[in-house]
Amino acid sequence: MAECLNCNTSFLGRADKKYCSDQCRSEAYNKKNSSSNSYIREVNAVLRKNRKILLELNPTGKNKVHKDMLLSRGYRFDYHTHTYTTKAGKVYYFCYEHGYLSLGNDFYALVIRDLDKQKT
Ligand SMILES: [Zn+2]
Repeated sequence: MAECLNCNTSFLGRADKKYCSDQCRSEAYNKKNSSSNSYIREVNAVLRKNRKILLELNPTGKNKVHKDMLLSRGYRFDYHTHTYTTKAGKVYYFCYEHGYLSLGNDFYALVIRDLDKQKT
């Protein structure tokens, strides 16, 4: 006997068979897909929110803020789209085109990546 991973019904079949029917197989596949899609949506929402916070705090393209200003708005430091390391070894963290650099003592320099300049 095997147990269906989708409906938990016991069914006759090889022990390595995972689903009782084609229907359960496709249901399980869809569930898996939609949960990974919802994870992607969740991450995207965090990144968009981070970007919005950086944009609000940095409308002119250059600003210096305290960590608390970011945290009080709900900034999530564990989410970013990419990093940029300068030759001097400084690491900028980006959410799309908006980024920050730690200045120490809980202060951050906010920057906007100049997409045109990056190409050259
Ligand atoms: Zn089943």
